[in-house]
Amino acid sequence: MPHIVTDNCQRCRFTECVDHCPVECFHADDEQLYIDPDVCVDCGACIPVCPVQAIYDVVDMPDDKERWVTINKARSSALPIISTKQDPLPTAEARRAELGF
Ligand code: SF4
Ligand code: SF4
Repeated sequence: MPHIVTDNCQRCRFTECVDHCPVECFHADDEQLYIDPDVCVDCGACIPVCPVQAIYDVVDMPDDKERWVTINKARSSALPIISTKQDPLPTAEARRAELGF
């Protein structure tokens, strides 16, 4: 099942996940990343490297995150691919602290 980026990525966007992904399935806007479910090969490499636990395999998705399946599909098709690690957003460390990581 595809992997999905959820709201923990918002205002954070550390992009460690991009560096560990074997295919080009991450897309970005100014706030967070999204995974193209048609390109993701479900290797799971992105999950342990995310510092704020923003990524889930769909089969392990908490019920309150389900809407992110639709959002990732829609947003990834509308946004450019991001294929290299970038600087985190200026709000990243504050966001990480807010989330308790
Ligand atoms: S590693 Fe996590 S916080 Fe960083 S861009 Fe990827 S999903 Fe977002
Ligand atoms: S599960 Fe693998 S292929 Fe899918 S987004 Fe994560 S690193 Fe990329």
